[in-house]
Amino acid sequence: MSVVERQEWDVVVIGAGGAGLRAAIEARERGARTAVICKSLFGKAHTVMAEGGIAAAMGNVNSGDNWQVHFRDTMRGGKFLNQWRMAELHAKEAPDRVWELETWGALFDRTKDGRISQRNFGGHEYPRLAHVGDRTGLELIRTLQQKIVALQQEDHKETGDYESRLKVFQECTVTRVLKDGERVSGAFAYERESGRFFVLEAPAVVIATGGIGKSFKVTSNSWEYTGDGHALALLAGAPLLNMEFVQFHPTGMVWPPSVKGILVTESVRGDGGVLRNSEGKRFMFDYIPDVFKEKYAQSEEEGDRWYEDPDHNRRPPELLPRDEVARAINAEVKAGRGSPHGGVFLDVSTRMPAETIRRRLPSMYHQFKELADVDITAEAMEVGPTCHYVMGGIAVESDTAAARGVPGLFAAGEVAGGMHGSNRLGGNSLSDLLVFGRRAGVHAAEYAAGLAGARPPVDDIEVDTAAAEALRPFSAEGPAPGQPEAAGGRPPENPYTLHQELQQAMNDLVGIIRREGEMEQALEKLADLRVRAGRAGVEGHRQFNPGWHLALDLRNMLLVSECVARAALERTESRGGHTREDHPTMDRDWRRINLLCRLTDPAAGPVPAQAAGEAEVVGPIILTRETTEAIRPDLLALFEKEELVKYLAEEELYE
Ligand code: FAD
Repeated sequence: MSVVERQEWDVVVIGAGGAGLRAAIEARERGARTAVICKSLFGKAHTVMAEGGIAAAMGNVNSGDNWQVHFRDTMRGGKFLNQWRMAELHAKEAPDRVWELETWGALFDRTKDGRISQRNFGGHEYPRLAHVGDRTGLELIRTLQQKIVALQQEDHKETGDYESRLKVFQECTVTRVLKDGERVSGAFAYERESGRFFVLEAPAVVIATGGIGKSFKVTSNSWEYTGDGHALALLAGAPLLNMEFVQFHPTGMVWPPSVKGILVTESVRGDGGVLRNSEGKRFMFDYIPDVFKEKYAQSEEEGDRWYEDPDHNRRPPELLPRDEVARAINAEVKAGRGSPHGGVFLDVSTRMPAETIRRRLPSMYHQFKELADVDITAEAMEVGPTCHYVMGGIAVESDTAAARGVPGLFAAGEVAGGMHGSNRLGGNSLSDLLVFGRRAGVHAAEYAAGLAGARPPVDDIEVDTAAAEALRPFSAEGPAPGQPEAAGGRPPENPYTLHQELQQAMNDLVGIIRREGEMEQALEKLADLRVRAGRAGVEGHRQFNPGWHLALDLRNMLLVSECVARAALERTESRGGHTREDHPTMDRDWRRINLLCRLTDPAAGPVPAQAAGEAEVVGPIILTRETTEAIRPDLLALFEKEELVKYLAEEELYE
């Protein structure tokens, strides 16, 4: 048996982005001793990169806004596949979560009369995004960190120890959620710098690990987003919901190659930026789908008037939901009307004075100046779709954020599925993190307190299995990469090569436009990569060894990618972030269907931890269908009947 240091906590939160920090604050405030663990430095989560703002129906800029309008927009954006109760809670609670941030020290941009300013974004009927220039995520994280430090100072006063009730373990990666029978008992992790293993024992674990973008070649996501939380949940026996829905943000940088995929915030369009093709045409007017026809301007003049007089004009189609804009850009490029580097043009330079651009979009100004030598106050940007966000995720109970089927496991933020349906509206992620991060903290703390003296013990064998699994890349078959091949042994695989092949396959075969044959090819490729990943070998030792870290992350990326590919192949329609060339329209009957991915057959019971640890790299994924829960009648009553007819299945309309 290996000797691994253990610490006891009530709640462990995996991830220190907006969702993780909000959950940790809440759990600690409710009396739970709480540990937060994150892969990178404290404060450097994806949330810090969020630019445009937090969507909350505060009605500060247009008093017509309220939670009902926000709920409607969110459901329309998600093409009615949203877990409707989550969308309801989100719309109702988001304003309180934003105001709460101000009481904790956040400083949002103001309107002329001193209220929190709100900006326009795609799919939102009214100006709704509370923001701090285009650096909103930074302010959000700074505020939550400050709150954590304040709580630690309180604890120090009382106990003499800053970390007695709330501790952050930074630059540590969790590789397994541990279980005692059905229930969660803790988490197994390693320190990235030293390679040392440790266990955090806790009856409640909140997964808040963010997205999966690093499985795709062109992405706005940073190195951390390897789908770890999704995989941890699968391995612990929880299902993932609707993983086919991956959001390709319409505007990523396309040039130079070293920065391809980096995000160009939607605020550029929210503040007046327009999209043009190589012929100078504002092409989005040609791509307004029928379901949105009545809500969007039909001429440039009307679209432009909307910025000044939104009550008497319709919004420009550049502000359609992201899936629509991304598909339109893709189609223009394919038709040969793209920009020199394979994107289209996004122009603010002819729309606003240079001074206003520098004030309202400071990060974009610097990003283009420094990375592409483009002055956006004088010339158009070149942009194209980039993998940005995953709508699919851990299947959770709407009110409690509890992961289905695994007592003690909770999930919040991007890693949780359901809230955004088939497509997320911009700004709805930051509000999602705060609303459901808080809820996860409440319920994880309550659950842990409820167990009192009967905490599930951590099993030594499970810890040893997790340690052996993590060490496997050091003893991959055959010689280490770069060494001569030993006679008879299968050569080890280079984790970087496997990662590149995975990213290329996902980009080319399960990307923005999908086809049956290509997805079948992707699944074959993924099966091959899964076997080869079992032989991913690394040189050197456990002290800061990025090759080893990547070899461990591969398991997660492969699991998640297989979920995406399997679900995408199964769903024979186009909806939100999932576009099938061979099934180009939305099919109302599919609205009733959720796709669940599991690592184990629910009928056969869970794979024992030992067996999963022994397997080279676990898989394959089992896919099942379930019927979506009927939308509550009072929420349906918020929509016109003519609109519901476009979305709901026939039998739902009768019901
Ligand atoms: P994250 O903030 O992604 O944090 C995940 C945490 O989990 C990190 O601390 C990471 O280290 C940790 N972690 C991951 N794996 C492990 C592991 N195995 N062990 C331990 N720790 C782990 N949304 C909006 O609403 N408005 C915007 O304006 C906006 N702009 C964006 C701009 C960019 C460039 C990007 C990339 C995204 C943007 N988004 C925006 C989306 C939004 O930022 C993310 O969806 C959101 O921040 C995710 O937050 P989270 O708390 O779920 O996870």
